[in-house]
Formats: sequence, structure tokens, C-alpha cells
Amino acid sequence: MSRIVIIGSANVDHVMSFDYLPSPGQTLLSQQYRIEHGGKGANQALACARLATAQSQIDFICHLGCDAIADEMSASWIKDGISPQGISKLAGEQTGSAMIFLGEKGANAIGVALGANASLTPQSLEKHRSLITDANWLLIQLETPTASVAHALNLAKSHGTRTILNPAPAATLSHDILRAVDIITPNETEAQAITGIEVSDIATAKLAAQMLHQLGPSIVIITLGQQGAYLSCDEFKGQITAPAVDAVDTVAAGDTFNGALTIALSEGGSIVEAVKFANRAAAKAVTKPGAQRSIPYRSELV
Ligand code: ATP
Repeated sequence: MSRIVIIGSANVDHVMSFDYLPSPGQTLLSQQYRIEHGGKGANQALACARLATAQSQIDFICHLGCDAIADEMSASWIKDGISPQGISKLAGEQTGSAMIFLGEKGANAIGVALGANASLTPQSLEKHRSLITDANWLLIQLETPTASVAHALNLAKSHGTRTILNPAPAATLSHDILRAVDIITPNETEAQAITGIEVSDIATAKLAAQMLHQLGPSIVIITLGQQGAYLSCDEFKGQITAPAVDAVDTVAAGDTFNGALTIALSEGGSIVEAVKFANRAAAKAVTKPGAQRSIPYRSELV
């Protein structure tokens, strides 16, 4: 039995489409409105659960509000195989939410209410200490308070839990965080935010990876969209291409990549095999619309 713990955000996205974005004071009627379950933590936990075999235990430490959407989201995660013990519903809080207005030619305006995600503090992580210290792998991102990210990584590292940081959304990172990371998985923008190097091709990905190694992680994986990923570690340095697909929506591609990578490693695969599996899973996700709806099941990848 391999144990994987994911720590991170859970949000509900309210998405409205318009011919153009409303101006201040203007009311527009939307032709299309949909609700999407999202949040990088939840997406990555779900990717792990859908891609895992019965030999894995998937725990997701997150904070939800006490509302109907929290019940709906957590029920769907548990149905797909996430263990319920790390999921907390907090009295008096609301589940994190985003209001997303889509306008012409990809224009958008987004407002985010962190809600219960904001109270995922280091103290609250201590309530789930054993889920972190007993896990084989920790997967975490940057949508929860930075102090909690640092706490979780250092706690995991000091107990032999292997750590994977997906440093999204883009941010600069402290040494306290980076030195506790075994594997870091930025996209090009996130790699630039940490290293200051503009990543635009394999040569610049290699430079950014070298700098990231100096900061702590022994394995660096820079995702490159449809080009796949650049892997840098002792065994291998180079690009690993993604399968060519007809992409319809890349939302949650990075989250699927991270979940799949974690699962493949937890099953004992080599790092090269794990990146290939992650590319296959993420390429599958971009062929479908939506966030959590697009994350594939293991049976879809055979
Ligand atoms: P997002 O924010 O859209 O979820 P990201 O910016 O975090 O994604 P990307 O580098 O764009 O990350 O994509 C992650 C992975 O998804 C890639 O490494 C690749 O495996 C896969 N992928 C993305 N776009 C495509 C595509 N058009 N065709 C095939 N695979 C893709």
C-alpha cells in the first residue's frame, strides 16, 4: 500500500460568458453560465485518485465551508477514491469561490474569495500530522498560505515523506520552502518567477533547471505545454515529448500532470517513466472541456 497526501485549495468556479466584458456599473445578461469544481489542490487530489490503482491510499487535506457546494464536491471526490479523513468542513466559513467573466477573444475578469482555504494554517495542518508523516509522497501547490506550505514540506521531509512541489500560481519562493522539496514541477512562467530566467525553449529550460537544482530540488520538471516537459535529474536531462492530440481546453492540464506523476512514482516507476505517464494523462485531459470533468481515469489511458 502506497500512501499519498495532497494538501491544497478547493474552489467552486462560477463561469459566465459574454460577448464582451461588462464595464463598471453595467449589467449584462450571460448566454452561458456553468459551475465548475476546481482549486489546484482538489484537481491534483482527484487526478491522483482517478489514476491510482487499489494499492494506493489518497488523502486530501483541505478546508471547505459548511455549505451545499462543499457537500457536493466532497461526495464526488470520495466517490472517485479520495479518503475523507483530511477533508474538513468549517462551521461559519464558506467554500472558496471564483467569479469568472469571459469576454471577447479570450478576455477575462476574475475575482477570487479564498473562503475556508485561507484558514488552512500550520496549526490546522498539525491536526492531520500523521497523514503527512506516514505518507510516502506529499504533493502540494501554492494556493494555500505560504507558511502552511513551508510547514508541510519541512514536516514531510523530516519524516522521510518524499515531497513534490507544483509552484503554482507563479511566485518567488524562500529557501525554507525550496530546500525541503525533492521534485519541483513549474511551468515556464513559474520557472521564470523563481529563477528570473525567461524559459522559452529547451536551452533556457536547462538553464532554469540548473538554477533550481542549486536552490534545493534534486529533480526538476519544467512543463512545456504541448511540447511535453523538460526533465533534469542525475539519470536524465532533456525533453520528454507529449503525445500529439487535438486540444480543446487546457484547464487542469498541469494539475493532471502533477497527479499522474505522483501516482507513477508511488508505484515504483522511474522518473522518466513517470514523466511519460504524466504527459499521457495531461494530454488526455486537454482533449476534454472543463476542470475536474476533464481529468482522466486510469482506464482511459490503457
Ligand atoms: P494549465 O495551467 O493549463 O493547467 P500549466 O500551464 O500548469 O497548465 P502546461 O505546461 O501548459 O502546464 O501543461 C502541462 C502538461 O499538459 C504538459 O506538460 C503536457 O503534458 C500537457 N499538455 C498541455 N497542453 C497540451 C497539448 N496541447 N497537447 C498535449 N499535451 C498538452
